[in-house]
Formats: sequence, structure tokens, C-alpha cells
Amino acid sequence: MDRLQGVGKGGTVIREPVVVFVACLFAALFALAAHASPTAPPQPTLQIAALPATIPAPSPAKVVQGGMDASFVPSPSPYTPNAIETKRWYRLTTNIDWNGATSPVLNFTGATYIRITVYAPPDYQPHELWFAQTETAPRFSRHHLAMELPRDLRAGQPIYVEIAADNFTRHIKPALTDMAAYQAEDLQHVRLTTMFASVQVTMILAALCLWLVLRDRVLVYFIGYATFQLMYQMLVSGEIYELPGARWLVPLGTHAPWLFTALSAPLSLSFILEFCDLRQITPIAARILGWMRWPFLVAAVLLCLPFAERVHALASGFNLWFMISSLWALGTVLLAMSRHGRQAKFFLIAWLPQVLFTLTRLGQVVLGLDQPRWLEYGFPFSIAFSSIVLTIGLADMSLRARRERDMAHHLADHDALTGVLNRRALVRRLHGCINDARLQKEPLALLFLDMDHFKSINDRYGHPAGDACLRAVVETIADELRPSDWLGRYGGEEFVIGLPGATHDQAMLIGERIRQCIENLHVHSRGCTLQTTVSIGVASLDGYTDTADELIARADAALYSAKTDGRNRIVAHAAPLATAGS
Ligand code: GH3
Ligand code: MG
Ligand code: MG
Repeated sequence: MDRLQGVGKGGTVIREPVVVFVACLFAALFALAAHASPTAPPQPTLQIAALPATIPAPSPAKVVQGGMDASFVPSPSPYTPNAIETKRWYRLTTNIDWNGATSPVLNFTGATYIRITVYAPPDYQPHELWFAQTETAPRFSRHHLAMELPRDLRAGQPIYVEIAADNFTRHIKPALTDMAAYQAEDLQHVRLTTMFASVQVTMILAALCLWLVLRDRVLVYFIGYATFQLMYQMLVSGEIYELPGARWLVPLGTHAPWLFTALSAPLSLSFILEFCDLRQITPIAARILGWMRWPFLVAAVLLCLPFAERVHALASGFNLWFMISSLWALGTVLLAMSRHGRQAKFFLIAWLPQVLFTLTRLGQVVLGLDQPRWLEYGFPFSIAFSSIVLTIGLADMSLRARRERDMAHHLADHDALTGVLNRRALVRRLHGCINDARLQKEPLALLFLDMDHFKSINDRYGHPAGDACLRAVVETIADELRPSDWLGRYGGEEFVIGLPGATHDQAMLIGERIRQCIENLHVHSRGCTLQTTVSIGVASLDGYTDTADELIARADAALYSAKTDGRNRIVAHAAPLATAGS
């Protein structure tokens, strides 16, 4: 029965399995990131002596030949920070002869995008370490700047380190690690970064496949911003420089990650606007958020200019704008959520870990603390997590779009008051039934039903009572029909019932049953109990030339006879003997 086909309502709550899945995913990814925090193996103490920063800095030849040794001051700190205006020199020595199982690896953490030149025994030749360096046969990942030292490194044997100047001071920390231990840890790092990057790539590919079919703009924004975010991730881990064509990024230096942030930020804001439906839910805040995208594009262009790296205000201004727009986006999404924005809820769940990790990282930098491993991997973890949750969110969006489309189809074919087929749909259904009946050589009957003196019900009890009566009659009829039968509203209080497979006599019996049920029906509305009757005309498919219009016209003519004969009765067309009722 057509009217019984329900259309699912657009739910307002996120389904339970999704919540459980997201929680488990968060726990699993976080456990993986936290697992990557092995206790550091014991290392020989590295003694650091620093040469006071002078302009100009002494020449490498003079330092390496020991000409400045008397000026090196022992440093109590484990760090070798750079200077702003000039190069800095450090002398590193070990307290004991190297006795590790494999060679020592000199490695620097916190040295992203800074050039470090090491003059180490035995030859004291310059060996430049740089994050964006492209080597033909790299031995380590770019996690730290690292180089192998000779195994016979003796206590007190100096290693001179020249650290280039940079715009801001970095917490560079040198260490000597046994090659085997260093490689094991490096492998762990590669595993984790690869896993998080793979998750991101998978989500981007999934969105791309969806876009190929759906062509939805929100997917383009997602693909765009997730791709730039992935590139940013690969940049800060240095792995992007291993990709073909990445050489053009080298001159950008420190500004390369900013460039990708400047490109991903406006796309992510566009995504938020579209995904959370902010233009509908929070129009004013959404408009401001829309404007906030443009400065990022200007910054993206400026960052590529050759002098950009020397303009401090550009970096500070960019960071400030990034924070302001992020906070505005967060506020707008929260506002949308308070206004029952379902997608805003998804977005917030996806975004929350990212915000928390960013804040923690900010706190760690401001307080000058060492970055713990779990925090180092916290950010890529939060990006992977957010991509997965947002992909679920996109799927949820498609589901809702499908439901809305189904609902629109349903509304286009069904009567709003009674839920049965409307006139257009019932005529279409009748055409289909006539074709089927001919093909399968089966009978087909039609009942045309009109409520008796319905106008007086409206006049006496009011239109709402009349509506209740119409709905009660429809329910009563529906209860009497088989699943293959159908019911439609032809006009005001006139209904057409299709009975595929029913012979003329069977149709008469069904019609009579319906008539009796309605006669016995008591409709309760607004404290009144009303009763009604119906008159029914019956026609059945006749010959090979019969059309839907003719069939309806014959049933209508029969109905007219039922009315003129006194109402509350069933009359068959061209079968004057087959009458029943009161
Ligand atoms: P008859 O026995 O000759 O069919 O008399 P009738 O009063 O049923 O027929 P008439 O055509 O004179 O009036 C039909 C009434 O149905 C008029 C109209 O107000 C009412 N009607 C049509 N559609 C609706 C509706 O959706 N809701 C309500 N409450 N009344 C409706
Ligand atoms: Mg009527
Ligand atoms: Mg009528």
C-alpha cells in the first residue's frame, strides 16, 4: 500500500554507533601516538661550550684550528640556541671515550629550518646539516638533523658547531646517540608519520571518489584544505623534500609551512561555512568569517616574495590573523551548535583535539619546555582524527541530502493531508497498472469514492473536523486493501482506489466492505463524534483500447448513479443490477 511507505525523518541526534566508533578511534590513535614515547637510552654527557656572539663571527678556519678555544665559555644549559643577527659557534665534547656498540650519531632537535655546520674529527671538514637538504642517499629521516661521527671519538676531542643566524631563537638541543638506538627510534618516527599521513591520504582519496560522483562543492573544500594540511604535515616532518618537484619549496625556507597554512586556512574556512551550514544558521557571523579568508590569500602571495623572510611583521601578522580567524570560526561553530546545527556538532568533535593540541604546544613553546613525544605526534594524530570524523560527517551530509530528496519526491507524489497518492501520481499509477494488466492478461478494477454530504460536515463541525474525517476515512480504506492495491485522492473528498488483479465481482465485494466500514466509523474530533457515508462507483478494465481516462470516466459515471440513487451505496458501471447498500 503506497500510503504506508514511510519516509525517514531527518534525525537530529548523531547515531550511537558513530559516537562509539569515534571514541574508539580517538583512543586507538592516541594510544599509538603515546606508545611512540620510548624511554631514551643512556647517552654520554655532551659538554657544551659557547663562543659569545660577535659581529662579525670568527671565521671557520680560525675556530676549527683552535684559535678561539680560549674564548669558549662552558655552558650550563643543554641547548645550543642560534643568535638573531650573527652565526654562533659551539664546541661540543664528551666526558668519556665513545664506547657504544655502534658509531655515535650527533643529532640536533629543534633545528627545523636552520643551517648547522659541523666540523668533526677526524678531518674537521665542514658538514652542513639542513632540514630541506636533498641528499642522494639519505641515511636518516629528517626528524632531527643528524650525522654519523667516528667510532673512536675520544673524551675531550672537540666538535665545532656553527649555527646560522635566524629571525627568532630556537631551542636547538644536541645529543650523541648510539647509531642502533638512533635508527630504531627513527624507524618508529617514520612508522608513525607514515601512518598518520596515510590516513589523511585515504580520507582525501575517499572524498575525491565521492566528488567524482556527487560533484558537491563542500567536498572540493575538504579535499583542498586536507591536501594542504597534509603537505604542511609533510613539510614540518621534512618528508616532502623527498618528493619529486619539491625542490622549488627549498628557497621558501621557513616560509614554506606558512605558505601551506595560508592556502589551507581559507579553504578550511570555506569548508566550515558550507559543511556547518553557517550561512543559514548564523548569517552575520558567517559573513564575517567569509571575509576573513581574503587576508590569507594576500599573505600567501606575500610569503612567496623574496624579501618576505626578512619582514618580521609578516610572520607576526600572519600568526595573529590565524589565531583571530580560528577563534572566530570556533565561536561561530559553537553558536551554530547552540542553534541545533547538527553538522556543527560533527565539526566540533573533529576539531577539538586539534585545538587542544595546538594550545598545549603553544603553552610548551611559551614556557620553553622540551616537546614530549606524545605532543610531537599529537598534532598529526589530531589531523588524521579530524579527517576521519569529517569524512563520517560528509557521509552523514549525503545521507541527509538523500533523505531530503526522498522527502521531496514523496511530497511531490502524495497528498499532504491524507498521505495517499495525489491526483497526478494516481493517474500515473493507473497508466502503469493498465499496461501491467494487459501484459499479464489480468483483470483490473477501479473504485471511485465520494463522501456523502461532506460539505455539511464542514459546515456543522468546522474544517478541522472535516480534515479529521478525511484522514479517518483514508485509514479505514487502507486497512481494507492488499499491499498491491493503491489509494489516491482525486480531489476534495473524492478518492480513487486501484485494485490490480481484482475482477469486477471482487471489486464490488471490496467496495461494499469499504462502504460498510465507513458507515460504521465514528470519528472523534474536538469533543464531537461524527459519522459519514460514502458513495462508490466501480469500473473495470475493458478490452485492449480502454484508457486510464475512460476507466476513470466510467467509474465517475457509476459514482454519479450512486449519488442520484440515494448515496451510501456502490454502483457498477454498465451493470445496473449490481447495486448494494441501503
Ligand atoms: P455530495 O454528497 O453530493 O458529494 O455532497 P458534498 O457536500 O460531499 O459535495 P460538495 O462537492 O458539495 O462538497 C464537497 C466539500 O468538500 C466542499 C469542500 O469544502 C470540502 N472539502 C474539499 N476538500 C477538503 C479538505 O481538504 N478538507 C475539508 N475539511 N473539506 C474539504
Ligand atoms: Mg461529496
Ligand atoms: Mg465531490
